[in-house]
Amino acid sequence: MDSETNNQSIVPKKEPNDFIFGRVLGEGSFSTVYLAKDIQTSKEFAIKVCEKRHILREKKQQYVKREKEVLMLLSKHAKTSAPFFVRLFCTFQDHSSLYFVLTRATNGDLLTYLQKAEKFEEEVAQFYTAELVHAVEHMHLLGVIHRDLKPENILLDTHRHILITDFGSAKIIPQPPFLPETENSDGTARRSSFVGTAQYVSPEILTDKRSSPASDLWAIGCILYQMLDGNPPFQARSEYAIFQKILKLEFQYPSLFPSVAQDFISKLLVIDSKERLGAQDFGGYPSIKNHRFFESIDFDTLYLKTPPWPTKCRDVAELASEVSDPSEFLNTEPGLSGQQLSKLLGLQLNDEPSEQSRNSAPTPSKDALTSTSSANNVLSQPMKKGLINFPVNEQQLQARLLQQQETQSQWHNLVDKKLILKQGLIDKRKGLFSRRRMFLLTTGPNLYYVDPSSMVLKGQVPFGLTLKAEPKNFKNFHIHTPGRTYYLEDPEGFALEWCKALEEVRKHYYD
Ligand code: ATP
Repeated sequence: MDSETNNQSIVPKKEPNDFIFGRVLGEGSFSTVYLAKDIQTSKEFAIKVCEKRHILREKKQQYVKREKEVLMLLSKHAKTSAPFFVRLFCTFQDHSSLYFVLTRATNGDLLTYLQKAEKFEEEVAQFYTAELVHAVEHMHLLGVIHRDLKPENILLDTHRHILITDFGSAKIIPQPPFLPETENSDGTARRSSFVGTAQYVSPEILTDKRSSPASDLWAIGCILYQMLDGNPPFQARSEYAIFQKILKLEFQYPSLFPSVAQDFISKLLVIDSKERLGAQDFGGYPSIKNHRFFESIDFDTLYLKTPPWPTKCRDVAELASEVSDPSEFLNTEPGLSGQQLSKLLGLQLNDEPSEQSRNSAPTPSKDALTSTSSANNVLSQPMKKGLINFPVNEQQLQARLLQQQETQSQWHNLVDKKLILKQGLIDKRKGLFSRRRMFLLTTGPNLYYVDPSSMVLKGQVPFGLTLKAEPKNFKNFHIHTPGRTYYLEDPEGFALEWCKALEEVRKHYYD
């Protein structure tokens, strides 16, 4: 067990058994974040659990290493007067996973808050932008460029102050800070791969792949615009089209957009990064803080203030409690062993069929073959010997079901005339975007996916001995194949059923 101590107040030598793990707070592309309670102090944290196998498979070692480095640096230099970052209390590991013990953000993220409010009044936007500027100033003084600032990465603490998170794309720049990173010592331009999120990425990252602290200032401009308008300034149907708009600085202020905010944003959304407000400052951002937009803000006492409520949220204005509802902790035993994990995710992978499935129809009906619901299909029926262990006259039964499928299922011709064992609409995530696909698990075995609007077969998840379906929660699951991991979300919440079915089929054919 390896444990870090990056600050005197950091708890040394922790391990999973020092915590009771509660509900899943969220999921990243290679991590699951759990609510957790320290059994000694009863203090609550968010513990991010990254599976080592998954990190290696996705080649995300650098990403995780960077996130840890930056979190340690920021936690070591945390300011009690402006603790605007998620704090890393300790890290540890066991044979399968890495654990990051973090401040728990009890009030969700800024994007969700903003969506609830639709948009913020100027006073609210001004307050959150001021916190953001203060936090970014501190971060830049420590030599950290975030490079993926966006409302989703700004969490809110119990009192709705900001907690910046997600440092996987961050960069630690050589001192002295505040000098744009333009060249290496040998005079060659430093280049890095594209990082960040399309809507908030700055033009210099798109053109010469160079980031500087001013790239975060651009993102602040985009976030403020979004707070006041409800949508980010650069929007289009594809990433490419968004990039074109950014490079042409193609955006408009709607009428009635507050004029002082407009002036401030226009000084941040400047193509030449050196010309952005603050880019020439040294040792802080006085030129930003002195802009008229912040006239009524005292940066030194921001954290002592109660953040203003957006009008739309005033009637539901209640603060999340510092301590969670006990029902958020299904487990009473510490640790995150297989058994505890199953409980948290509601998994009973090796159990008898549930009461519900025991009561379902014994033979496939028309609905079973045509429904889009993941629950209704051949595989949802109780088959004690295994989901696709057809009875003795298997061939005959299959032939009969196939006949039925041919006349009743719109998907029949897309699956090479194989018998559909399970089907359902699944959101398949690739990069930034998700696409809804009809997934069809068939004999063979094959797992096809089809664009349901054009009825075009888009591809197959390659089935094989090593295919592994990994449930993450009721909706999300991953399918690991030797060459690729598929990130999937069943909007109807049948992720567990999908994983069971895939495992049954894999076993039937390969074990
Ligand atoms: P990716 O790994 O793809 O960049 P991400 O940054 O959202 O995604 P994580 O940092 O693993 O991934 O977070 C996953 C989700 O967990 C977040 O979207 C958020 O909902 C929740 N979460 C993360 N950190 C905390 C926290 N400190 N407190 C409360 N919830 C959190």
